[in-house]
Amino acid sequence: MAKHLAKKEKKRSALDVAKEKLSLIKDSAKKIGSREKSGEKKSKGPEKTIARAIRIPVTNSAKKAAARKKETEGSDAFQSVMLNKTLDLRFNTTDLFLTALALILLVIAHFLPTSGPIRLLSFLVPFLLAGYNYLYEAFQEAFMGIVLGRELILMIAVLMALCAGEYLGAAAVMICLKIGDLTLAYIEMIQSEKVSALYALRPEKAELVNGDAVSPVRASEIAVGSEILVRAGETIPVDGVVLDGTSVLDAAPLVGGNCSFPVAVGSEAISGCTNVNAPLRIRVERTQKDSVSSALIRAAENAWMHKSAHERQLQWVLSYLSPALVLLSVLMAVIPSIATGEWRVYLVRAAILLTVSQMYSVVQSVKLSYDCAAACAASDGVVVKGHDVLESLSRAETMVFDKTGTVTEGEYRVKEVFPRGVSEGQLLFLAGAAELYSPHPIAKAIVAASGAYASEISAVDIKEIPGRGVSAFIDGRCVYVGNAAMMEEHGIAFDNPSIPGSAIHVGVDGHYLGHIILEDALRDSAFDVIEELRAAGVGTSVLLTGDVHSSARRIASSLNFDLVKAELTPEEKCSSVEYLMSNRNVNTTLAFVGDGVCDADALRLATVGIALGSFDKPEALEASDAAILGRELRTLPRLYRLAVQTARTALQQTIVCGAVKLLVLIFGAAGLCSLPVAAVIQMASILYEAYSARRILLSGDEHKILRVKERKI
Ligand code: ADP
Ligand code: MG
Repeated sequence: MAKHLAKKEKKRSALDVAKEKLSLIKDSAKKIGSREKSGEKKSKGPEKTIARAIRIPVTNSAKKAAARKKETEGSDAFQSVMLNKTLDLRFNTTDLFLTALALILLVIAHFLPTSGPIRLLSFLVPFLLAGYNYLYEAFQEAFMGIVLGRELILMIAVLMALCAGEYLGAAAVMICLKIGDLTLAYIEMIQSEKVSALYALRPEKAELVNGDAVSPVRASEIAVGSEILVRAGETIPVDGVVLDGTSVLDAAPLVGGNCSFPVAVGSEAISGCTNVNAPLRIRVERTQKDSVSSALIRAAENAWMHKSAHERQLQWVLSYLSPALVLLSVLMAVIPSIATGEWRVYLVRAAILLTVSQMYSVVQSVKLSYDCAAACAASDGVVVKGHDVLESLSRAETMVFDKTGTVTEGEYRVKEVFPRGVSEGQLLFLAGAAELYSPHPIAKAIVAASGAYASEISAVDIKEIPGRGVSAFIDGRCVYVGNAAMMEEHGIAFDNPSIPGSAIHVGVDGHYLGHIILEDALRDSAFDVIEELRAAGVGTSVLLTGDVHSSARRIASSLNFDLVKAELTPEEKCSSVEYLMSNRNVNTTLAFVGDGVCDADALRLATVGIALGSFDKPEALEASDAAILGRELRTLPRLYRLAVQTARTALQQTIVCGAVKLLVLIFGAAGLCSLPVAAVIQMASILYEAYSARRILLSGDEHKILRVKERKI
C-alpha cells in the first residue's frame, strides 16, 4: 500500500497531496475520537506509517533478497535482471586472495615472452582465478535465457576480446570487475556490522516471572501482560511498566547520547535501556517485535525498502540505457567489421562498449550510501524509515518547529498563582484534580505543584481539549483549566496575566477562580541548533505553538526564527504546515520537528516529520518519518547534515560514473582507449563510488567522537 501511495503521490501536485493527507488525518482523528468515546484503544494512525514504523517484518538475508526481488516485480524485465545481479555481493578472503594472485599472474603473463596457445593459456589462468564465479553465473543466465544478464554480457565481451587476440584486456576486465565487486561487498559488510552492533539492544533471552519461580525464556516469545525480571546490568528486552523495584535506567545505548533516569513502581521501562542499579519486575506492555529497540533495529535493516527518488530514477534510466548500449556494441561489432574487414579491431571496440553498458555498480553504491547513512543514524539513536526520508530531508528548505518539548525543555514549573476568591491551595487542588490524567507537560507541572491531595479529589468526565486545556466535573461542578482561548470559548471573563509566562486559567461553573503562571526553560542548545541548521542550508525556520502570542514572540526573537505563529490548536498547526508546504519552492521540502505531544498529525502531514525524544512515546515514533529517540536537540543538525551529505554523495557517484562511462564510450568507440585501460578506468570509478559510501560511515563515527567530547566538556 505504501508503494501504491508513493506512486500515486508522484503524479499529483504537492498541494493535492497535502490536502489529501490532511483529510486522511482529519478522518483518522475523527475515528480516534469516536473510539475514545466508546472506550476503545487509540487508533495507531494511517496504515502507511504503521507499515513503515513498526510492522515491517525482521528480515534475514534470504528474506531480504526475496523482498528486494519482489520490489523489482512489475518493473521492466531488463531492470529486474540488472538489479538481481547487484544483490549477490559477498566479501570473502578466499576471493580476495585469488584476485590478488590473478593480478600477479596477469602481470607475469604480460611480460612473459610467449606466443600462440601458451600465451592464451598464461592469460586464461588469471582470467579463471578472478572470474570463475562470473563464468558460472554467465552459464546460468544463458541457461535461463536471461540475455541481458550482467555476467553473460560481460562474458560475451570477454569472449569477443579473446577471439580478437586481446588476451590482456579479457583478463583485465575480469580482474577489475572482481576488485570493484569485492570493494563494494566490503563496504556493505562494514555497514551491516554497524547495524549488527545494534542487536545488543535486543537481548535474545529474558527471565519470566511465574509466581515465585523465575524461568529463562526467549525474549521474542514473551507475551503482553506477562511479568519479567531484569537484573542490574542487564538490558530491558521488551517495553513494559515497572511493577516492583527502584533503579536507574541508562538509555545511552539506545538513544546514542547521555540519558539516564530513575524508575520506580509505575514507571515505563523502555527496551534497549540498561538497568543500572537493582533488579526490576516489569509487566510486559509490548511484544519484542513491537518494542522501541526493535523499531530502531528494523529501521536500520529495512531503510532500503523505501528507495530514494534518485535510486528509482537511476534504475529507470539504466533500464533503457544499458540495453541501448548493448545494441550499439552489436552494431559496432557488425557494421564496421563488414565495411572495413578489420573485424579484430571492431570486436575489441564492441567489447569495450559492452563493458560500459553494465552500470550495476552505480545503483549499488548509491544504495549503499543511503544504507550507510541509515546505519549511522541508527547508531546515533535515530529511526530513519527509508532512503526517501533522508533524501527529502536533504532538500528541506523550510523547517517547522513545535515549541513545547521541542525548542523548550517541555518541563514546566509553576512560577506564581493568582487566585480570585479562593486560596492558592484551593485553586491548585482544583486544577491538579482536573489535570491528573493529562499527558501535557503543563498538566504534569500543575499536578506536581498541587501535591498529592489533588488525587483525593475525584474528577469525572475529564476531557482533554488539544491546544486549549482540560474540562472535568468535580463535586458536580464543571471545571475548566486552560488558556485564554478556552475561557473565551466558554464565556468566562478572565484576568490578563500581569507577569510573563504561560497563563493557565481556572473557571468553575462559569465563574473565574484565577490563573496559574508557568514557565518552561528554553533548551540550552536551541539557539545553536537553529543557527547550525541555517548554516547547513535550511532557508526558513518557523515556530508553531499553541501558547500565547507574547511568549511565542519572545522565544522566536531570542532564537532568530524567521516566522512564528501562536495560539494554534493541533488542527491549525496542520493547516499552517499545509499552507507552508503549498507555498514552498519547487524541489524543496518541508520538515516538521515536534515532540509528538499534540502534534502527531503535523508530523504525519509534513514531507518529513521528525519526532524528538520519542523513545518513550510510541505514538510519535509511529507518526514520524524519522524519530530522534533521545531528547537531545543537537541530534537534529547532525541528522540534517548526514542527509545532505548522503544526497550529495549519491549525486557525485552518479555524475562520476556517468562521466567515466561516457568518456570510455567515446574514446573506446573511436579506438583511442584499449580494453585494459577501459577496464582499469571503470574499476577506478567503482572504487571512488565505494570510497564515497565509506566516507558516510566514517563521518557518522566522527559525529560520535565529537559528541563524546561534548559530553566531557
Ligand atoms: P505547543 O504548541 O507549545 O507545543 P501545545 O499545542 O501542546 O503547545 O499546547 C498549546 C497550549 O494549549 C498550551 O500552551 C496551553 O495553553 C494549552 N493546553 C494544552 N493542553 C493543556 C492542558 N492539559 N492543561 C492546560 N493547558 C493546556
Ligand atoms: Mg508540543
